[in-house]
Amino acid sequence: MAFKALNLSANVLRGVQAAGYTDPTPIQLRAIPVVLGGGDLIASAQTGTGKTAAFALPVLTRLGQHGRARVLVLEPTRELAAQVETAFRDFARFTDIRTVAVFGGVGYGAQRSDLKRGVDIIVATPGRLVDYLKTGEISLRDITILILDEVDRMLDMGFLPQIEDVLKKLPRDRQTMLFSATMPSSIVKIAQN
Ligand code: AMP
Repeated sequence: MAFKALNLSANVLRGVQAAGYTDPTPIQLRAIPVVLGGGDLIASAQTGTGKTAAFALPVLTRLGQHGRARVLVLEPTRELAAQVETAFRDFARFTDIRTVAVFGGVGYGAQRSDLKRGVDIIVATPGRLVDYLKTGEISLRDITILILDEVDRMLDMGFLPQIEDVLKKLPRDRQTMLFSATMPSSIVKIAQN
């Protein structure tokens, strides 16, 4: 089955074609219809399976066009946050949807000016996100889609308190996706939450 048969928006489909993808990977085939339909998702998926596009393509289709900050993606490291934000930006190149990567170890200046301009999708590491929540530069009140990526690595890195903090600030009425390479009982518990 080709990407064309998956009901992605025309602009997102153009983005996929420009990225050079022809056929969806197995996780993309299974996840895209669920996410497009607004369903929650728990996926056991390693890096390299195409999981980024599995969530990015249907999420971009659901957003449609630029508006409020509606999507939050949490990543364990700044490298992953940068990589996933770049993927969103690439797939969104034929839309007016705006993205920002928020992570530590760099200055606040560029991230701040992106946030001021207004973004639809925030890809963040938990620590720096909490900084911006404290200053009020990021508000989570309009978030309708939450993606917890590489959850096992986030837990290994000790981010559980920050994740719980962020979950408390999110609207309850939302779509949630959880991706993890492994599914120990601690992660199943978070998923149930
Ligand atoms: P990920 O698992 O999301 O880190 O993706 C692994 C790699 O596979 C990335 O370099 C993607 O650009 C690439 N990729 C993802 N989906 C596809 C696809 N359907 N066709 C070809 N390459 C893909």
